[in-house]
Parts: sequence; structure tokens; C-alpha cells
Amino acid sequence: MQSQTLKIAIQKSGRLSDSSKNLLKECGIKINNGKNQLVALARNFPLEILYLRDDDIPQYVADGTADLGIIGKNVFDEKNQFVVIAKALGFSKCRLSLAVPKSDNYEGLNFFEGKKIATSYPVILSNFLQKNNIQSEIHEISGSVEIAPNIGLADAVCDIVSSGSTLLSNGLKEVEVIMKSEAVLIKNPNLNGEKAKIFSQLMFRIDAVQRAQQCKYILLNAPNKSIKEIAAILPGAKSPTILPLAMEGWSSLHSVVQEEQFWEVIDELKQKGAEGILVIPIEKMIL
Ligand code: ATP
Ligand code: ZN
Repeated sequence: MQSQTLKIAIQKSGRLSDSSKNLLKECGIKINNGKNQLVALARNFPLEILYLRDDDIPQYVADGTADLGIIGKNVFDEKNQFVVIAKALGFSKCRLSLAVPKSDNYEGLNFFEGKKIATSYPVILSNFLQKNNIQSEIHEISGSVEIAPNIGLADAVCDIVSSGSTLLSNGLKEVEVIMKSEAVLIKNPNLNGEKAKIFSQLMFRIDAVQRAQQCKYILLNAPNKSIKEIAAILPGAKSPTILPLAMEGWSSLHSVVQEEQFWEVIDELKQKGAEGILVIPIEKMIL
């Protein structure tokens, strides 16, 4: 029996919640979830899950109430707490941008000189303005920032953007990207002993899940004469498995490839005679 448990804080409800829970699930961690529960214990891993507002998570991890947390990089930068980023998680990708009314003539950052900007990210925004030598008035609001110009509360906004459709429907246009963001796993810098051990077990699992997400298992049939060439153009296929097919002169090739790179060579594979190409997801990948 392990006596210690590691505590991870995730967003209770919002854009990070589902993906955060899903990551733990893919790591094989089963959670006993009651409705509206604020704390839950994993059934098969020494982990306790705290469901919190994302804005509060950096503080809780810094003071040791939680050992780990999952937040957007934007919140990490804004809160500036004494925590470290253990891993970028690749989901909830977005950017923090400046946007102005569509009809305004925007020619550069000087536009913001003397203007009022509404935002939930006053720290990141003021650092950005200072770096660029622009004096603006920052108006901090906690939600629905994008309506501020319409109701006369501000001249511009600094807000999270992903597709840009929210801005558009509020008559705004994105004019500057201040930072790019994605979900990150943060960690208290002083984990030690048993907790550090559990943390490295968790990181091992997250690594395996992430590696698997980037790779696919590929099977294809090819004439024997081109199988060597095909193996050579399949990136990452260091030592493919090659099995003879019942059909004379043909073989089946099995390998693991990076999905992105696979799409780049698909035409070349077909030209070299590859047929019946199957691309299959991998659940876990341990090197
Ligand atoms: P809370 O009430 O928990 O404070 P919130 O409004 O701060 O909620 P969400 O809107 O759920 O938070 O966003 C949480 C995080 O998800 C953001 O800090 C950002 O990193 C990311 N995010 C926000 N909007 C998007 C989006 N449209 N697409 C992708 N990621 C986003
Ligand atoms: Zn929040």
C-alpha cells in the first residue's frame, strides 16, 4: 500500500475539463466520481483529483494544496505563481489577442495609445504594452470581454481567440496575437520522496499516451521488388515487419509512423505500388 497520494487540480467545468479528465483516463486512471464532488480519489493509482476554477489552480499548486494542475498557458503566465511547467499537453490550443471594432482603421500598435482595453488578462496585457512602449488604460473584467466595445465600456479587447467566430459575431477583428496557448501540466517545484516517485510514474504514462497520439500503426501490401524502397520512404519505419503474402511476389509491411509525416509520403507510396494501406490508431506506446 502506498501511503501518499499525489493531488492534481483540474478545472471543474469549462473548456479544459473534458480533455483533462480524458488524459487521466487514457493514462489508465479510474476515478470514482460522484455528482458535484469537489474531490475524488482514483481507484487504481495514488492520485486525488481536486475540481477547481482554473484561475485558482496556480495558487493552490504554489502553496502545496495541490501538487499538480492542468491549466492554460495563458493562466500560467497571468498568475505568475511559483510553479513549473512539467509538460505541454497539446489540447485547448488558443491565442491571446488584441481585437478592435471591425470598422476601425488599424495600422499598428500605436492604435492602442491612450485607448481603453478590456481584458481578463491585465498582467500579460500590461507587460506586452510596456514592452512595446504603449500607454493604454486597462479595464479588467472577468467574463464576456468581447461585448465591452459594443456597450461603450472599452475601445478594444484583449481576449482568448480560437476560431475567431466570437469576435466576428461581436463586430470585432483580431489585429495582434500576444501569445499562443495550450493546456499545460504544472507542478509544485518542491515535490520529493514518495510524491516525486508517483509523479514520475504519472509522467511515464502521459509520455506513452502522447507518443501514441502522434503515431499510427501502418500496414500495407507491396510487390517484393519495391518493399525496400517503401520502407526507406516511410519516416520512422526503422525496422518494419515484412511478411510474405499468399500471393506470389507480394509482401505485407507493418510499421509505426508519425501520422503527419505519413500524409506527406502517401502519394509516393502508391506510386511505388503500395496497396491496401491501413492506418490504425495506437493506444499506448512504450519505448
Ligand atoms: P472558469 O469559470 O473556470 O474560470 P474560464 O472562463 O476561465 O472558466 P474557459 O473558457 O473554460 O475558462 O477556458 C479555460 C481555458 O481554456 C482558457 O484559459 C484557455 O487556455 C482555454 N480556452 C479558452 N477558450 C478556448 C477556445 N475557444 N478554444 C480552445 N481553448 C480555449
Ligand atoms: Zn477561468
